[in-house]
Amino acid sequence: MASIRARLTTAYAATLVGTVAVLGAVLYAGQREATARSLSARARADADSALQVVDRVAADGIPTTTNDTLIGVVVTAALRTRLELVPDYVLVLDSTSRTLYNSAAVRQLDPDDQVRLSQVAMRLRVAGPPEPVALSDRQLLLGSGAPAGLPPGLHTAIYRVVAGVDMSTVEAFPRELLATEFIITPLVILISVIGAYVLSGRVFRPVDVIINEVQAISDGRSLHRRLAVDGAGDELRRLSETLNEMIARLETSFGGLRRFTADASHELKTPLAVLRADVERAITAPPHSTEQLVALEEALQETRRMADLVDSLLTLARADEGRFDIFREPVALDAIVREVGESAVILGEDAGLTVSILVLEPAVVRGDATRLRQLFMNLVMNAIKYTPRGGRIDISLSHRLDGVTFSVRDTGIGIAASDLPYIFERFWRADRARSRASERGGFGLGLAIGQWIAQAHGGSITVTSRLGRGSVFTVHLPAATDEPARADAETHAAAAQI
Ligand code: ADP
Repeated sequence: MASIRARLTTAYAATLVGTVAVLGAVLYAGQREATARSLSARARADADSALQVVDRVAADGIPTTTNDTLIGVVVTAALRTRLELVPDYVLVLDSTSRTLYNSAAVRQLDPDDQVRLSQVAMRLRVAGPPEPVALSDRQLLLGSGAPAGLPPGLHTAIYRVVAGVDMSTVEAFPRELLATEFIITPLVILISVIGAYVLSGRVFRPVDVIINEVQAISDGRSLHRRLAVDGAGDELRRLSETLNEMIARLETSFGGLRRFTADASHELKTPLAVLRADVERAITAPPHSTEQLVALEEALQETRRMADLVDSLLTLARADEGRFDIFREPVALDAIVREVGESAVILGEDAGLTVSILVLEPAVVRGDATRLRQLFMNLVMNAIKYTPRGGRIDISLSHRLDGVTFSVRDTGIGIAASDLPYIFERFWRADRARSRASERGGFGLGLAIGQWIAQAHGGSITVTSRLGRGSVFTVHLPAATDEPARADAETHAAAAQI
């Protein structure tokens, strides 16, 4: 948990640092660009205003240049006075790149810088983009303009006017910005990271509580306990609800497992005790006496019962594990039901019951013939076991569009409505004492296995019953898909009383 918190905080800090760094860089570059643009505009504007001064003087009919006997052509005093009013670096050049005028700012530069400046100034394209020039201690941005549209005679010597602005002002502002960023950013990041750490700690505290609670519940003896569910529909609430559902399922299946083990041991304990008593009786009885034979016969019966029980347990255990392979081949159910019916008629006669096959329609399902026979036989045997002498048992197999239906109706003791929900549970018997005492002798596993067989075939078993009136067990199975449904199939009805 702490590691998720630490990892989250680190990831957050990394993202924050990255974002702030990118933002700072973009901001710095943007600001630099904007300042450079405004400087370019200023350089051009300075050149324009110097040019306007020249043009205005010329327009007033005042000469702009004059020939000085000592230094050659220079700007006239009238133009010089006005040019001095233009700020920054201003140069007026003739066509041979000789400087006719330098502003005060230019004059203050050292001679090398002045030469460098006039060289670049000469190279500049008139009305082209401003160009930087590196001097010994500063950088200037130069903009250029040339007099136009005036009578050429008036300022023949003036070829171009160049103005420059100091670029250090460009650097100054972004550098200040950078310094501010360097001081503020770590502070902001530190505060945010501390905030994120505290916040994620608060977010994960309920998870900590859930872990502790689950640990307490999963000790094996507290599966009845549940996690407290609070929070307004957030992920933690869903987590608690999901864990509660899982714990409930675990509780049910552990309970089932405990019951199953207890029931299985109980069911094995009784026949073992009987077996032991029988063997003891056989040992003590005179050899080959009737008493010894009866005891051995009983021991054999108990052994058979135990073998049956172990067989059923094995079937269910394998079914639970999903290890039981059910064959999938076309099975003609009518043939199986006829066979089961014939056996039922014979067994029914012994029990004083009338067994009839009322409907026997041809039907094919995909499945396991042995398992399906076991399922039908089980239902029929139950009907025989739980129907008193003189009763009736009706068997039918019908094929409809929605599948195949096998049903066994008896006029037996029936099942109480309150018991109906449990009859498919393992080891469940309506009346255990009566079942054993009356030699009906089931283990309460037959219907559980039957239900598994039906479900493994994609079908189901349902039951309707009234206490004292009888029961109807119905198995519904899907028909084989390659076998067209034959709702109107020939009905082998009234094969009654075979
Ligand atoms: P058993 O081997 O005890 O018959 P089953 O799983 O087949 O086990 O049946 C479970 C219980 O359901 C039986 O013990 C019985 O109480 C009840 N039962 C099953 N079939 C019938 C029926 N046809 N009529 C009345 N009760 C039945």
